[in-house]
Amino acid sequence: LRAETMFDSELKALLTGRDAGTPSARIVRVLSERGALSPGELARLTGLAKSTVSTTLAELRKSAVIIDHAANDIGRSQVGRPPTRVVLNPVGGTCVGLCIGLNYIQVIVADVSHAVLSDHRSPLPTDYSPAKAAEVTRALAQEAYAEAGLSQENLLGVGVAVAGPVDPVSGQVMRASGVPTWAGTDIRSLFEPIFRRPIFADNESNCAAIAEMMWGAAVGEEDFVFFKLEVEGIGGAIVARGRVIAGAHGAGGEFGHITVDPMGDLCRCGNRGCLEVHASFRRALAHAETRFGRPTTADEVIGLAVAGDIGCRRLIADAAEAAGRGLGVIGSIIDPGLIVVGGRVARAGDVLLESLAASYDRHTLVKRADLAPASRTRFVTGTLLDNDSCLGGVGLVLRHHGRLA
Ligand SMILES: [Zn+2]
Repeated sequence: LRAETMFDSELKALLTGRDAGTPSARIVRVLSERGALSPGELARLTGLAKSTVSTTLAELRKSAVIIDHAANDIGRSQVGRPPTRVVLNPVGGTCVGLCIGLNYIQVIVADVSHAVLSDHRSPLPTDYSPAKAAEVTRALAQEAYAEAGLSQENLLGVGVAVAGPVDPVSGQVMRASGVPTWAGTDIRSLFEPIFRRPIFADNESNCAAIAEMMWGAAVGEEDFVFFKLEVEGIGGAIVARGRVIAGAHGAGGEFGHITVDPMGDLCRCGNRGCLEVHASFRRALAHAETRFGRPTTADEVIGLAVAGDIGCRRLIADAAEAAGRGLGVIGSIIDPGLIVVGGRVARAGDVLLESLAASYDRHTLVKRADLAPASRTRFVTGTLLDNDSCLGGVGLVLRHHGRLA
């Protein structure tokens, strides 16, 4: 028991230490951010000498802070045995990812070895109150920990994905949020009394980008743009050198509110002619409902388009054309090599990507035709579409991103 207590305090100190200067702290931090890694990868990512990595790993293994990665070697060639990868010992702690969706709350519990232990979701009527969110979150977390047979005692932190910008200084949801009634809500004061642990937060698109970078379509990518096409809105994120640019007020990467027509329709944010208004899938849905003469869902239109329905393909192409105009602005500013497309509309896959890439090409400076195929900007769909924001909440804690102090 005593050894366990020593181990607990050592790992906790390493994981929560703000000045991570020692080799142990640097290695633990990188393992927390990336999951399983080989000694060679650790040397490259920490900048430590291979011999230092080797000695430090021996110490960390002895105190059970790290363990060998169980999935190692499976399916690999027996010739030239690959280097053993290590992960943080899962008993070192758990993280909660919490997604405050427009009409649901989701709670994912994962451990420091990056294993997801439970995933719970509770539907709610739209425009639910912060007090209701706190009540539902408490119940979902209790259920999640009970199901995983764990105590919340070793919870390290809670990462909250919010449908709108969260000011990193005050911890407040900004007025431009997707849920106007939450403006001014202090995320830390709302959830800290429930968990009594550090609270991390960022807007849901930034969280989704972090999830795609850690476990999805952008693994191994340090620089990319994430573009989220939902039925109700457009979000995004800019990732530079492996970090999401959250901005001074938490509103970095809010692509949906680029003005594409200064005299256009009024947006929910109060400005006119935002990209979100022009490229919204709601417009496509209205056309589809006229065509079919009955209420239609986005999933239905997307499904028909993928199956080859020419009218539904046209609706997606039109939305992509409008979205590509905004994405072209981003392209002209940062010229990304990779664009990961998420959100419900991304389920249209290539039907969407082809039109989006064509529109992007028309509205940005560097043209595909001028580039060798290998150096053209790549468009891919996210691979975590169902869970990206909530998994990103877990990622906030593992990566120490967006801590509300
Ligand atoms: Zn707007």
